Amino acid sequence: MNNENKVCEKCKKDFEITQDDFSFYQKIKVPAPLMCPQCRQQLRMLFRNFKTLYKRPSSKSGKNIVSMYSPEVKFPVYESEEWWGDDWDPMDYGKNVDFSRPFFEQVYELFNSVPHSAIVNTKSVNCEYSNFTFGSSNCYLVFGCVDDEECDYGHIVWNSKDSVDNLYIFKSESCYECVDCLGSAKLYYSQECESCVDSIGLFDCRNCLNCIGCVGLMNKSYHIFDQPVTKEEYKDFLIRHPLTEESTIEYILKEQDKLRKVIPQRSFFGSHNTDVSGNHIYNSGNIHHSFDIKSGEDSKYCFIVRKAVDSYDASFSPDISECYQVLACTGSKIIGSHLVYDSNDILYSDSCFNSNDLLGCFGLRKKSYCILNKQYTKEEYEVLKGRIIEHMKETGEWGGFFPLWMSPFAYNESIVNEYIPLTKQTALEQGFTWKDNIPSTKGQGTIQMENLPKNPEEYKDDLIKEILTCESCEKNYKLISREINFYKKNKLAIPRKCFNCRHAKRMSLRNSRNLWSGICKKCSKEIKTSYTPEDQKKYPIYCEKCYQQEVY
Ligand SMILES: [Zn+2]
Ligand SMILES: [Zn+2]
Ligand SMILES: [Zn+2]
Repeated sequence: MNNENKVCEKCKKDFEITQDDFSFYQKIKVPAPLMCPQCRQQLRMLFRNFKTLYKRPSSKSGKNIVSMYSPEVKFPVYESEEWWGDDWDPMDYGKNVDFSRPFFEQVYELFNSVPHSAIVNTKSVNCEYSNFTFGSSNCYLVFGCVDDEECDYGHIVWNSKDSVDNLYIFKSESCYECVDCLGSAKLYYSQECESCVDSIGLFDCRNCLNCIGCVGLMNKSYHIFDQPVTKEEYKDFLIRHPLTEESTIEYILKEQDKLRKVIPQRSFFGSHNTDVSGNHIYNSGNIHHSFDIKSGEDSKYCFIVRKAVDSYDASFSPDISECYQVLACTGSKIIGSHLVYDSNDILYSDSCFNSNDLLGCFGLRKKSYCILNKQYTKEEYEVLKGRIIEHMKETGEWGGFFPLWMSPFAYNESIVNEYIPLTKQTALEQGFTWKDNIPSTKGQGTIQMENLPKNPEEYKDDLIKEILTCESCEKNYKLISREINFYKKNKLAIPRKCFNCRHAKRMSLRNSRNLWSGICKKCSKEIKTSYTPEDQKKYPIYCEKCYQQEVY
């Protein structure tokens, strides 16, 4: 079969399906997609709400709980612990299949009858204001944590400790305001760094210690703006420019950006790869158009996957093989599903754990051979599954993700609006819903920003009683005791913006999950990069080969 150009049924843009793509679709027995990769990614992310949280009663105990579902949703919502309890049975909601109706209608009815967990915290302790945490303890407002301890405010923070206000950090400790950093400690306001310690405002540095505002350095210590300094000069700089002053951070980052405009910049971040395209890919082979992959092979259109093997179209998933159109899944042979952990051979299911051979199920644990939460024998299951797949092919439902109208979230409630932002009007035009009454508080402030203590010695625990007012969006926010200690210990300013504004700023620093054509500034070879055409004009972007020659 040859490569084929198709027109996306949603955005009407052209997209290409290659021979390899066709082989993948044939292997897992699905038709080629009708939507372009971007629209497919957008649809999956619509089903994930990381950080719009509500206060509401639990539908089980009536207790007031924190929930990612607003009080208006159709289905019952249980507190996480209640949801995991064994005094209710998701199988009680089982339904027969009706071949006179589209299958998704029936899946939707089932999903709207079974209780949902208010937030999804698995094997975590004291993380009730966080969401989608795994194996973590004492984390506050971190969304997407894996194996973290005492981390506050962030999104995608994995295997990290004692860190505040970060985005996409891994194996790091005592970091603050870092984006896409790995294996670092006491690193502040830095981006794309690996193994850097006690440093501030670095970009694309490796193995650096006591550096400030540097770009592209390796194995260096005591450098300021890429120039060597003595230990005394370094100390003196920090005395003259304390981090508690906003002007210090502005100055360092402005000088750093000046350096980025003249120093060769890599077109792609990642290492130990063969034949990959995208950004932030490590230890992988034959992975294309994918972003934030820790390891994997033979996969495409994957976004935030720890280990991707032979999979297409996955988002926010730890370890997957032979998966397609999945969101937050870990396991093998999963198609069109959300939040399926440690399971295999799962189709169109949601919130199922340690299971195999499920179709259209919700909330099951340790189950096999179930359809719409109803138990069948292995033989019955196989026959009925075959009939349902044929039925779904006839109705055009087979092979994609869940349809848009099944998402319990409005566009601006879900994470999709951060990765693919739309205005209310455009979202509505594109068939999404929008929520106008997302909870927030204004006008309750108890302290003026100028009255916040400037000297870290004076940060007192009773600051947790104060209500602050974001200087950017005017919404109110509070501090917690652990973060006050963090600012005090690390001599940092108390943030003058709310978590959402701080988070949005960090998100804006990351390249989007798109690839643009470009030309290497050195050898003029054609490159594919996540730097937009505008960024390519701003920074000298080199191909990997030229970058390696220049820097190493
Ligand atoms: Zn499209
Ligand atoms: Zn704000
Ligand atoms: Zn080049």
